[in-house]
Amino acid sequence: MKLWLFLLALSVVGSFGQEYERGSEEELEAMKKLQRRRWPDRMIPIKFDSNFPQAKRHHVYGAMEALNTLTCVNLVNASESDDRHHILVSNFRPGCFAALGYSKRPGKKSQPLNLNQGCFYGRNKVSYHELLHALGFHHMQVRFERDNFVEVYKDKVNPSQWHNFNKEKGAEGRLAGMGVPYDYNSIMHYPVFAFGINNAQTMKVKKEEFEGDVGVSIIPSRTDLAALNRMYECWDHYLGDDIIDSTPYAKFHGQYFPNPRK
Ligand SMILES: [Zn+2]
Repeated sequence: MKLWLFLLALSVVGSFGQEYERGSEEELEAMKKLQRRRWPDRMIPIKFDSNFPQAKRHHVYGAMEALNTLTCVNLVNASESDDRHHILVSNFRPGCFAALGYSKRPGKKSQPLNLNQGCFYGRNKVSYHELLHALGFHHMQVRFERDNFVEVYKDKVNPSQWHNFNKEKGAEGRLAGMGVPYDYNSIMHYPVFAFGINNAQTMKVKKEEFEGDVGVSIIPSRTDLAALNRMYECWDHYLGDDIIDSTPYAKFHGQYFPNPRK
């Protein structure tokens, strides 16, 4: 009788969904590390430094609103008195940059996202790009498989900027794309002249069938959204299963996510 009940229980578990072969110990550990980039409860409070110009805030709000609609993360405008860990949008340093993923540090209440006056071209492009960093994503051209997609002219890269081309490695690198393929149209892809000595070309597209330019998107691509929804387990949003060469999300999740589907 006991055995019968046990078998019944097993078959019930099985009927809830296909079971997938689990990834290696190393892969499951790598995914746990990637998951540490996620914001708890998919909640991302955002504040603006008081010096950040009012007239430029709509770029960030526009990107926040679209991402809130297309994914299950919640990018929310936090009040002055809100004491949760948050993103502080500032403009007091040169350049456009953001801390990677959830980066709570002892004694710090916020993590930076900087947009100076050069970061407002292409409508909300740069705001999207930096928010995707803050949500946990690196540049497309550092993906572990990038050498199959772009040739990097190392001797043309400004040596002080070479780190921008360091590939993600190991199991963490293989899983960082969340099972969706390399994408020239990603908003996380740099243009082919990025970091060139005297503006030299630093990358060349390897797939001849790709037409157009990399690094020119002003909105997140389908793969950007799919990767984000996959990382944050947004089962009710776009997961990119229709993208050629993607691993179906249920399978990817079943193989590599340490936690079962909720
Ligand atoms: Zn970037």
